[in-house]
Amino acid sequence: MGAPILEIRGVSKRFGKLAAVDDLSLSVQTGAIFGIIGPNGAGKSTLFNLVSGVSRPDSGEILFDGVDVAGWHSDAIARAGIGRTFQNLRLFGYLSARENVMIGGHARLKATLFDSLLNTPRARREERAALSRADELLARFDLAADADRFARNLPYGGQRRLEIARALAGQPQLLLLDEPAAGANAAEKRALVDLVRAINAAGTTVVLIEHDMGVVMELCHRIAVLDYGVKIAEGDGAEVRANPRVIEAYLGTPDA
Ligand code: ADP
Ligand code: MG
Repeated sequence: MGAPILEIRGVSKRFGKLAAVDDLSLSVQTGAIFGIIGPNGAGKSTLFNLVSGVSRPDSGEILFDGVDVAGWHSDAIARAGIGRTFQNLRLFGYLSARENVMIGGHARLKATLFDSLLNTPRARREERAALSRADELLARFDLAADADRFARNLPYGGQRRLEIARALAGQPQLLLLDEPAAGANAAEKRALVDLVRAINAAGTTVVLIEHDMGVVMELCHRIAVLDYGVKIAEGDGAEVRANPRVIEAYLGTPDA
């Protein structure tokens, strides 16, 4: 693990009166699997939206590899090397699984629209490479047999894996996973843990939002806990689990 790949400094995002993310700072080391947990509504997905350029912070800095990307367009952030999945999947239902992955890789292509229209050698070469990379990814995610099916016709577990494959197709240095184990059974969760480990071992830093504490504890080197947009704790699994503020945030205070 080296220098921070992601440094969030004093970031805030308000929706009307609600501070969904409130003066939040955290730092993710290169090579880590970093966990973000917290009750529903804590601001976890909003934070991912800010980091991935889906929405703009009201204030603060988001340093990716030392460059402040706060407020950049989501396409520019994807090109810079941040990939993400969405808690509510964003697949193209009426495109095949393979096409969904190829679209995920689109940000990496060098060929211009002009190249594509003229079907230049560069466009053809890139198209072939993108196709074979998409098929490799589909195989890795156990989706080879589903490559030609509409995404909407895949079982839910397959759609969740496809969402990750699509994010990886852009070859991100930093991958943000928003509740990838949601709705998964025990066997699917085990497979997911192995997959995330393999992605990380291949050199991708991972930030993981996840409710399943077993998955979080098994995977994450470090964990931040959010509640009402504020970071209430940070540390390794044992430290976070023993923190009274964390226990209170999850269990609530006893009714008077
Ligand atoms: P989490 O992912 O931790 O469950 P979210 O980041 O989705 O939480 O939401 C944090 C808070 O911000 C919630 O109270 C939610 O209702 C609110 N919120 C999120 N997105 C919007 C939005 N686009 N407009 C208004 N309120 C929002
Ligand atoms: Mg969320």
